Amino acid sequence: MSADPRGIGMTSQRARDRLVDQIRQMGIGSEQVLNLIRTTPRHLFVDEALASRAYENNALPIGFGQTISQPYIVAAMTQALLCGDRLEKVLEIGAGCGYQSVILSKVAKTVYSVERIGALASKLRVRLHELRVNNVRVRHGDGAQGWAKHAPFDAILVAAAAIDIPAALTEQLAVGGSLVIPVGRRGSQELMLVTKTFNGLEEEVLESVSFVPMVDGIG
Ligand code: SAH
Repeated sequence: MSADPRGIGMTSQRARDRLVDQIRQMGIGSEQVLNLIRTTPRHLFVDEALASRAYENNALPIGFGQTISQPYIVAAMTQALLCGDRLEKVLEIGAGCGYQSVILSKVAKTVYSVERIGALASKLRVRLHELRVNNVRVRHGDGAQGWAKHAPFDAILVAAAAIDIPAALTEQLAVGGSLVIPVGRRGSQELMLVTKTFNGLEEEVLESVSFVPMVDGIG
């Protein structure tokens, strides 16, 4: 991990600006979200050997068969959850390397991040400390159960594809809150936006996506 958040060469500001241009062209209109992509040092979330590819608009391996999500998808999911106001509590399932967690930390008062692979959860705690991000709480656990102790959440973001939307997550969503989650099997997943209203849940399909699967239990 290169320690310099500013980056040089392929991790420079120019490389990040190019990435932001691409994401804008793909339809992300929120300046707030584009600015978060521009200012978050993605090269610090991948192994040093991959740092030169950190500002390509691709998923990259982070070990344990998992990937850091594609920047465009991180932007699309974050944009879907932002409704103007600053969010109080956000639940993130599948924290992985923590890139999305850090982006959420800039738009929420507190982020509660659950990761089922213990080694990734431990690595993330260290990384957050190094980056001086202190409003993200990390739990090693099965995200399908949510994090009941801190519910209800204003927004929930799931970064692993579920076959069905876990009931615990919609239960832990506040009225007026939104859940963004990839649903389906490998090869036929859709990113869904679920909104909780006084009358129940409203579902909207945002786009086709490709995420690693949500796995039961802890690893
Ligand atoms: N946003 C992360 C995405 C990582 S990939 C990043 O950009 O790094 C998806 C992550 O979801 C993996 O780290 C995987 O271990 C985790 N995951 C899969 N099933 C899970 C579950 N049931 N509970 C919590 N995390 C889960």
